[in-house]
Amino acid sequence: MAATITIEILGCGDAFDVRFGTSASLVTASKDGQSVQLMFDCGYQTPVAYLAQQPPVDSLDALYVSHFHGDHVLGISILLAYFVYQGPRSRPFTIVGQPGVKRVVEQLCDIAHPRMLSAIPFELRFLETTEPVHVGPLELSFAQTIHGLPNFAARLTCGSSIAALSGDGQITKESRELYEGASVLVHEGYGWSGSYPKHQAVDELLEMLADSETLQTLVLVHCSGSERRKIAQRLVEQASRLPFKVQLALPGERFEVSSA
Ligand SMILES: [Zn+2]
Repeated sequence: MAATITIEILGCGDAFDVRFGTSASLVTASKDGQSVQLMFDCGYQTPVAYLAQQPPVDSLDALYVSHFHGDHVLGISILLAYFVYQGPRSRPFTIVGQPGVKRVVEQLCDIAHPRMLSAIPFELRFLETTEPVHVGPLELSFAQTIHGLPNFAARLTCGSSIAALSGDGQITKESRELYEGASVLVHEGYGWSGSYPKHQAVDELLEMLADSETLQTLVLVHCSGSERRKIAQRLVEQASRLPFKVQLALPGERFEVSSA
C-alpha cells in the first residue's frame, strides 16, 4: 500500500534569526489508511507559525524534541496550553525525546502555566528513549550529532518512504548512517564553509553525503542570518555538480516522500 511522508517547514532560522522563525517542521505520514501528524521541535517562534494555521486542538498527534536548547523547546508550554485552554483537547498527545524530556516539559509548564499539567484534560504520554519507537504508522530511529547539548537526529520511516531531520549540530558517522535510505533530508546548514563549533558547515555536509544512493533532496535549515546569502550564492554556483537537489528552506515549504 502507498505510504507518504510530508514535511512542512514551520521555521528554518537559527536561534536568533527571527525573519525565518526558529527551526521546526510539521511531519504528516500516512499508510494503509492510518495517518499521524508529528511536530519536529517547538522553539519560541514555532507556536506562532503553527497556530497561524488555526489547527484544531486534536489534529496534532505527537511532538519530537531533538534537544533542549530554547529555540527548540520554549514553545512547548504554549502548544500544550493551546490544547487545554482553546479546546479542551480529548485525544492523547505523545512527546518523544531523549531521557530528560519529561522533566524539561514539566519545568517549562511550571514556569509558564503552573497549574496546567496537574489538571490536563487529556493523556500526556512521554516516550523517553534513543531507541527506535513507533508513533502511528511512523517509525522513528535516532543518532547523535555533535552539538552544544546532546542532539538526536531522527530518521522517519513509513512503509518504504524514508525521510530524516537532523535537529542541530554536525553530522557524525552515526547520523550519516542513519540518513542512508532517506529521499529527503532536512539538515542544519549553519554556514557555508569553515569551523562553526557544534554547528554544521554546508560544504562538509555535501562532502559527507556525496555518496548517498538514495538522497534526492537536501533541505538546509538553522542557517545563520549572516551566512544565508553566501550559502544561496554557492548553491547556485555549484548546482550542476551536486549529486542531489539542495535548497535553503523557506517557511511554509513542503517536501514529500511517496512509495507505492
Ligand atoms: Zn541547538
